[in-house]
Amino acid sequence: DLFRPERPNSRGFDLHETHDLELIEQARMPHRDTRWQAGPLIAGDVVGGEPHEVRNPARPEDVVGQVTLCSDADVETALAAARPWGADAGERAKVLNRVADLYEENFGEIFAVVAREAGKTPKDAVAELREAVDFLRYYAARGQELSQGPRGVFTCISPWNFPLAIFTGQIAAALAAGNAVLAKPAEATMLTAHVAVELMHKAGVPRDAIQLLPGHGATVGARLTGDARVNGVCFTGSTATAQRINRVMAENVAPDAPLIAETGGLNAMIVDSTALPEQAVRDIVASAFQSAGQRCSALRCLYVQEDIAKPFLDMLFGAMDELRLGDPWDHSTDVGPVIDERAQADFAAYIDAAEAEGRLLKRIDAPHQGHFIGPAAIRVSGIAGLEREIFGPVLHIATFRAQDIDRVVDAVNASGYGLTFGLHTRIDGRVEQITSRLRVGNAYVNRNQIGAIVGSQPFGGEGLSGTGPKAGGPNYVPRFAAETLPNGDV
Ligand code: GLU
Repeated sequence: DLFRPERPNSRGFDLHETHDLELIEQARMPHRDTRWQAGPLIAGDVVGGEPHEVRNPARPEDVVGQVTLCSDADVETALAAARPWGADAGERAKVLNRVADLYEENFGEIFAVVAREAGKTPKDAVAELREAVDFLRYYAARGQELSQGPRGVFTCISPWNFPLAIFTGQIAAALAAGNAVLAKPAEATMLTAHVAVELMHKAGVPRDAIQLLPGHGATVGARLTGDARVNGVCFTGSTATAQRINRVMAENVAPDAPLIAETGGLNAMIVDSTALPEQAVRDIVASAFQSAGQRCSALRCLYVQEDIAKPFLDMLFGAMDELRLGDPWDHSTDVGPVIDERAQADFAAYIDAAEAEGRLLKRIDAPHQGHFIGPAAIRVSGIAGLEREIFGPVLHIATFRAQDIDRVVDAVNASGYGLTFGLHTRIDGRVEQITSRLRVGNAYVNRNQIGAIVGSQPFGGEGLSGTGPKAGGPNYVPRFAAETLPNGDV
């Protein structure tokens, strides 16, 4: 039944409703000054390594918590203790749905930790929780449809930009297929990961089926991807790191162990002269600057048809002037901080260099305290002018002539990446003309290009952007299950 889907997506909160805002306020408040304590959650005794202090990227004087990183001995204990989840698929689905319920019940703590640790605004925090819950419920259902058993032990390495949603999505898919998981969260967001795994344990996921290993990529990550006891790796992060993992796996793990990688993007949008300017401007601002541009789906290179460029860009820069930068805890904030001081310094230097070359079109002032970068627009001749993915609120802008639109598509394809793409046009034939030639995972027409919805918009790229299968789609969980051999044996 089209109108009563078997598993509707999480409802979330409506931030325009006073009632919902009050609920959020009340539930978050007890965690305004919490100092979370985190560390390895393994099926055995913890030795523990270095301590690591977590500070709020918006207010570095705010100590958010302490993490004990895992030692080499802890990694060994976890590898030795990992056991595929023995419960049948129905029982696993029940437990994963219980995790989703617990996430929703604990939204106050979750909103607080993702705001203070990862700089998530309320809008981003709501999206984060909804996506995590959707992954849990959707993958639980897909796990029940599998005819194959687990592969064994999966290493899941997740990024800081979706510290709950992607962290949970990888784990939920691996668990839904019956695997054991060794989870290595991003260094910047280990507190959120710890809160999440505690809820998984509380819901009934066995302690030897999900283990948390906070630590550095170069040590813990390398161990967990280069051990013969690992039967598959799921990774979201940079293309360069995925390539490193691929090499490590090639030398150390069984040849049939999959690497499921979701990596970077140099995402473009085309706005032609028939586009509705107000709508396109709104969608560009969301695509380029929401989450401070720290999404792999974010718009990096905007192509505006020359004929409308002047008035259109004036409107866009006017909209940028209205963006409010500030503490992501506040409901009035549109753009929060970038993740850390290093990212801030990198983007500031990048924008300064563009300014020195006379290519800076617009730059919004940023607060002086905290790791903020004012949203900026930089002129380029095309996507080929982007040497790398700038993972922040920096939009590159090029213009094109109507007769060159196919060349724009060629240039986008030639970047080698293929994650998201946006198109604003009122000409139906143009939609077909462009999307039929594009090589990207997710193309969006007359809307923004972020925020793929689990179950209806499977998300993932081509080329340098990832291996597939797409997250939140029907082929994802089966990849975590054992291959079925042609003769029918498993
Ligand atoms: N799925 C997210 C989106 O569509 C992006 C994921 C990422 O940034 O890794 O916005």
